[in-house]
Amino acid sequence: MAECSVCGREAIYCARYEGRCYCEEHFLRWFDSRVRKTIRKFRFFGKREHIVVAVSGGKDSLSALHYLHNLSKKVPGWKLTALLVDEGISGYRDIAIRDFLRVAEELGVEYRIISFREELGHSLDELVRIGEERGLSYRPCTYCGVVRRYLLNRTAKEMGGTVLVTAHNLDDVVQTFLLDLTRGEVKKIPRLGPVTGVRSHEGFIKRVKLFYEVPEKEVTIYALLNDIYPRTYVECPYARLSPRWKIREFLNGMEEMYPGTKYALLRSLLRLVEDLKGVYTEKPGMCRVCGEPASGEVCRVCELKAELGILKL
Ligand SMILES: [Zn+2]
Ligand SMILES: [Zn+2]
Repeated sequence: MAECSVCGREAIYCARYEGRCYCEEHFLRWFDSRVRKTIRKFRFFGKREHIVVAVSGGKDSLSALHYLHNLSKKVPGWKLTALLVDEGISGYRDIAIRDFLRVAEELGVEYRIISFREELGHSLDELVRIGEERGLSYRPCTYCGVVRRYLLNRTAKEMGGTVLVTAHNLDDVVQTFLLDLTRGEVKKIPRLGPVTGVRSHEGFIKRVKLFYEVPEKEVTIYALLNDIYPRTYVECPYARLSPRWKIREFLNGMEEMYPGTKYALLRSLLRLVEDLKGVYTEKPGMCRVCGEPASGEVCRVCELKAELGILKL
């Protein structure tokens, strides 16, 4: 059994990319110091903030909520609330919501739940079915991603939030990076920076990716050690339909063989985000239907609704 590199006790985790191992206590300290470093380095928060944490009920967002709940106790100028978007994926989100409610109640965090059905009149399952009937070629993750992003932004603003936290981790970020590259979507790369939404348009709330520099595995361990790991883990039924699944397998294989691959990709990404600053200067306007930010005359959500026949343009 490996020993903790700090105290010599039995290790629970070895970070192969840095050749060090940690016991439970030192893992948690190390985890905390790294997330704090990310927060400072990228200037995620100021002294006075209303932090809205986007939660799904999965391990990453429950960890983000737990972590920031503890941190916010030490910062008098911070208010912390949670926002959950219920897409309406039966056998998946309904189960995850129970885990969210348990943790939110334990922590005593205020929260708001909004749903696709309330906002669009249809759950994601229904949108997928309507899309199929109409012969649209979108994957479920397209509807989900576009609508979630939109609803999170709009609702966090309504709640009076000053910054929206998502629980994206290192793995999520580098997977999306490769995904964008494989699709020729270089324009989307600036969205993968640690902080987005600032300066681009007044209709966007500032968004930060809390676990930007933390591998998924380590967020999982944090969740397990703090007893917030979802009691009933279910995979999203649509996950394997996304090319992300293949990229994820590929990246995990690379990391296994060549530890440090994911961090190297993150460094390349940060460099590119910096280099691309001001290159794709889309000045979004306002959607003429709903008033939210839009790159054209109509925003992406209103466009999708029109394609699905649930909105007349
Ligand atoms: Zn130790
Ligand atoms: Zn719109």
